[in-house]
Parts: sequence; structure tokens; C-alpha cells
Amino acid sequence: MNTIPVALQAVRDSIAAACRRSGRSPDEVRLVGVTKGVDEGRILEAHAAGLNDFGENYLQEAKRKIETLQHGICWHMIGYIQTNKVKYMSRLFEYVHSVDRIEVLEALDRCGKETKVLFELNLSGEETKHGATEEGLGQMLEKVPFLQHIVPVGLMTMAPFFDHPEKARPLFRRLKETLLLVNEKFSLTMKELSMGMSSDFEVAVEEGATMVRVGTAIFGERP
Ligand SMILES: *Cc1c(COP(=O)(O)O)cnc(C)c1O
Repeated sequence: MNTIPVALQAVRDSIAAACRRSGRSPDEVRLVGVTKGVDEGRILEAHAAGLNDFGENYLQEAKRKIETLQHGICWHMIGYIQTNKVKYMSRLFEYVHSVDRIEVLEALDRCGKETKVLFELNLSGEETKHGATEEGLGQMLEKVPFLQHIVPVGLMTMAPFFDHPEKARPLFRRLKETLLLVNEKFSLTMKELSMGMSSDFEVAVEEGATMVRVGTAIFGERP
């Protein structure tokens, strides 16, 4: 198995190649290492190899790691959010990618600390996936001007597990179109598109991803 620094470099090279193919600059793409199930030692290994952004799915696990690793790391919450567990969230994470309903948005606002929010969309319509419908997104964005501590920065989506990454392309394209549309409609200037995982991040970068969430390709298979 590859060591973390070698795997990380391979992912960076693939991002750079996808940027070249699509006329983008690699500076526009932030690599978020997904560390659910990855211990602190391996997170530090990736951090030492230059990775500064890490994404976690589960609040308890994340809280333990974040409090242990006080190292100038930028933490991203990317997992499903339970409304009754939002309390610490804005203190722990700089970005929350998985806001998919008004109750979560309001609960985050009540934390009283500014939080950068991405709204998660379920574009595939799969019932097993979290994420708002486009209508639900509209309802959340209508609410934003009335909230004090919510900074809307972008949209997030998760493509289904396709047998070929090309099949995810239309969904990534649609996320970008939706971003442009809602920016116009709600007079916002959101810029972030959080899309692409180990299996499909190159296609996502070609379609405009500004944040890719990559776990397995950096840290190996999860147990
Ligand atoms: C686990 C996870 C990822 C990373 O998946 P890999 O296939 O391991 O790269 C990305 N985004 C979300 C929301 C996840 O839960």
C-alpha cells in the first residue's frame, strides 16, 4: 500500500491534470482529506505532507480529534447533522457542508458564532442519500437574510456510486448551474462547489469543483 504522502501527491497530480484539461488553476481547488475512521497519527502524517483541510462525518469522533490536534488545521463537517447535536458545531468546524434543512440552519445560527455554510443537495433523487431538493434549497436561502451567524458560501452534493465516474458528470454540472441560478435569484455571491470523492473527483474538478472530499484515495480503504 502507498504511504500517505505518496498517495496524497498522486491525488494532487490528478487534480492538477484535471485542471489543465479544463483550463483551471489548481489554486481554485481545495483538497479536503476525509478522515472518518482515520486516527490522529495518520491525520498528522497527511498534515505534515502539506494537507491542511480535513473533513469529518461524525460529531463525537470529530470533537475528540479536533480537541487533540490543535494545529492550525481547517476542519470541515461533511456528515449528516442531527439537530440536537449542533451545539458545538460552529466552534469545531470552519465549514459545514451538509446543511440540508431549515431546522439545521436555524440550530447552527443559534450557536451564536459565524459559520460558513454549504447547502447539501440531493440531485440524484436517491432516497438513501441526504440532501435537500431544489425546492428545499430555496426555502433555506429565503431564510438566510434573517439569520445572524450564517455565511452562505456554496453548495455540496454526493453522486451515487456509479460504475464509471463519467456518469456523475451531469450531476456535477447541475450543481454548478444551480449555484449560478440561486446566486442570481437570492442576490448571493456563493462560490464553493463541494463535489467529488475518491472515485469521481477528477470529473468534478473538470466541472468546476472548488472543494473535493477525498478519503480512500489518500488514507486507503476504511475498515
Ligand atoms: C466518506 C465521504 C467522502 C469520502 O469518500 P471516499 O470515497 O473515501 O473518498 C466524501 N464525502 C462524504 C460526504 C463522505 O461521507
